[in-house]
Amino acid sequence: MKISENIRAVKAKIATAAKDAERDPVSVSLLAVSKTIAEEKILEAIKAGQNKFGENRVQEVERKWPALREAGASVELHLIGALQTNKTRTAVALFDVIETLDRLKLAYALAREMDRLDRRIPCFIQVNTGEESQKSGVLPNEADSFIDQCLHELDLPVAGLMCIPPANEERSLHFALLRKIAARNGLPLLSMGMSADYECAIAFGATHVRVGRAIFGERIS
Ligand SMILES: *Cc1c(COP(=O)(O)O)cnc(C)c1O
Repeated sequence: MKISENIRAVKAKIATAAKDAERDPVSVSLLAVSKTIAEEKILEAIKAGQNKFGENRVQEVERKWPALREAGASVELHLIGALQTNKTRTAVALFDVIETLDRLKLAYALAREMDRLDRRIPCFIQVNTGEESQKSGVLPNEADSFIDQCLHELDLPVAGLMCIPPANEERSLHFALLRKIAARNGLPLLSMGMSADYECAIAFGATHVRVGRAIFGERIS
């Protein structure tokens, strides 16, 4: 299927899932996850009207996106992969939203570079809802104090929470947990749901769904 048709199909499913949850479909943003995807395909998505994208590696974005940004003037680019502290300055310059704020050292680095570049970009705090040792994110029982520190000590523009649930667990428990932590901390945005489960995530309040394979097909690498 063509990329434009895939986008249309995903958007239709988003609209249905939102209506089923008695939500306004415009309250759900579709992020096209274009990691490992070649520029021509991304350009096809931009031409089909897609204007929010997710990438997971700073270096790949430095390579691919300068030219793509010229093609898609209004593109909003989200970082959805782990950020090394020494790449913070580049990331603040390149991305429009950072979804993977996951530790205090990075919070300090982001605050410093946003000040230095005079560019305050919204952040999501990644929560390791499954408490998996190999996964990034703050632990659920540490989330409240981390959020408070980011907002009130570092004055970071934290807008929401993000999670990647464990592969083999009931997703709804993780989505519900993320929603609960966001609600009690007054954070309006929730980035959750991927190709396999974005409709479920919308039922649990996702405001941003991150969809790769359902738009661009299976990734090679
Ligand atoms: C790759 C990736 C996605 C997209 O996954 P698909 O299964 O291709 O939809 C979403 N979120 C994150 C953090 C990812 O790394």
